[in-house]
Amino acid sequence: MDRIEPKLFVISGPSGAGKGTIVARIRASRPNLGLTVSATTREPREGEVDGVSYYFLSEEEFSRRIDADQFVEWASVHGHRYGTLVSEVSSKLAAGSSLILEIDVQGAFQVKERFPEAVLIFIMPPSLDVLRERLEMRGTETAETLSVRLANAEREMALADRYDDVVINDDLDCACAELASVIEKHERN
Ligand code: ADP
Ligand code: 5GP
Repeated sequence: MDRIEPKLFVISGPSGAGKGTIVARIRASRPNLGLTVSATTREPREGEVDGVSYYFLSEEEFSRRIDADQFVEWASVHGHRYGTLVSEVSSKLAAGSSLILEIDVQGAFQVKERFPEAVLIFIMPPSLDVLRERLEMRGTETAETLSVRLANAEREMALADRYDDVVINDDLDCACAELASVIEKHERN
């Protein structure tokens, strides 16, 4: 029988591609698959809980943690800072299961430098028009933040060929099945 080896998976893709939706579905069927909670300086959205959705930090606190070398990676994304805390990765890797970091392209390449064995997976929307529809349907963006996110999307998508695998999120069930099988493939290698 193949040996299952816990791995670090980095999942990126433009805002609205479906990363959060797909990862939540996969974790519902594999609850031991870890997910880091990132820190951010952006304001919480309705329903987001501090310490669960993100650690919501002030600009000063985020800067203090950079100076204290507390981040595995961090980046400015859509006008706010986001980062993965060393404490999140070490405590969750210690649980002995694979771990997902859902982070942007800049952070993904920082993680790959620090952990060359990390697997980078890109979630791609079927088109920019569909991406816009999904962001509008999600109802979390103002006209201004929507246009910032769409403007960044093309730049992010142009980097997909530097990822180990790309999953196109057209039909949600297919995308979830594909991501689950990509994760298992790497855990067996
Ligand atoms: P991300 O985490 O990449 O920013 P979300 O997971 O929040 O994206 O998804 C953006 C929106 O698109 C959500 O409203 C979600 O329900 C919807 N969505 C995700 N995947 C699909 C899909 N395959 N088909 C239709 N709608 C989708
Ligand atoms: P949102 O504001 O929609 O929650 O996230 C916006 C973007 O920030 C997404 O592309 C997401 O992947 C990215 N992001 C979330 N957490 C982190 C993180 O810890 N580090 C980096 N580099 N990007 C992150």
